[in-house]
Amino acid sequence: MVENLIEDKKLLKSKFLGALVGTAVGDALGMPFEGYDPKYIQSRYGEVKDMFPGKLPAGSYTDDTEMMIGVAESLIENCGFNGEHMAKTFIKNFNSSRGYGFGVQIVLKLISEGESWENAAENLFGGIGSYGNGAAMRIAPVSIFYYDNFDELIKIAVKTAKITHTHPLGVEGAVLQAYAIALALNQHPLKNLNIENFLQSLQNLAKSETYKNKIKKIKILLNKKTSKWEVIFLLGNGIEAFNSVPTAIYSFLANHKNFEDAVTYAVNLGVDTDTIGAMTGAISGAYHGFEAIPKKWLNKLENLNHIKNLAEKIWEIKTTQTQPKPNI
Ligand SMILES: [Mg+2]
Repeated sequence: MVENLIEDKKLLKSKFLGALVGTAVGDALGMPFEGYDPKYIQSRYGEVKDMFPGKLPAGSYTDDTEMMIGVAESLIENCGFNGEHMAKTFIKNFNSSRGYGFGVQIVLKLISEGESWENAAENLFGGIGSYGNGAAMRIAPVSIFYYDNFDELIKIAVKTAKITHTHPLGVEGAVLQAYAIALALNQHPLKNLNIENFLQSLQNLAKSETYKNKIKKIKILLNKKTSKWEVIFLLGNGIEAFNSVPTAIYSFLANHKNFEDAVTYAVNLGVDTDTIGAMTGAISGAYHGFEAIPKKWLNKLENLNHIKNLAEKIWEIKTTQTQPKPNI
């Protein structure tokens, strides 16, 4: 269990909404620039601060949010984790225009053809599994559902990740992202954020040298004057979980006073803009709450009401039931 639980139910609801809508807003802001070099973005747009059209209309989200919606829908329907149901929900929601990664498409196809959800993903990439950021990008609903029980949060983050990403670095990225969102959620936004403690909690959780080193680099970068080029060089901006989850955590911490600053910072780092934007939006939204998300973005965001409803339903489950059902 955690100590700094948010007892104000209204604030808790705002934070639940912030985590899920924050994911979608960051995703939609980054959507037009996915794969773009940051130098190109800068020369063409200056600093991206608004939602532009890309492969999809302005305000549209990509696979990140579509899968995040699937995680939330499944947790709500089962009042907890049910792997087979979650995998089937991903398949039901799948829309190929949203830019799904190659590996996830294979996994979902295998499951739809009858392969077990527990075995489908481990065959990817010659049997080593994927270490992409696809499990981390969709994890926000797990963080809000288990925000008050960190042991369960970690367990369910692992299970949720493994539906599509079984490489230890892919799973660890999802766990660290889930934990970062929950840590942010459990902080009061009007009290000073203890960055040292925040990073130490993540460092204590990290298992691999890869993530331990990245978290050390986050700390170094936060304690000096730096440039986005150095952040990209040290933390990364790519599709691998270890080259994007630490980047999102840094983007939040370096801009923790303002949701808009955090998400625009993340997107302007380039390359995996939608996912780094989505993950930063999830952490920052969980910290500040829904009201901190700029109206100019909410007005453009696709499917806002459905995403809000999902967060509200999870809040109802958490505030009206004493205990969720045991996990299957
Ligand atoms: Mg995407």
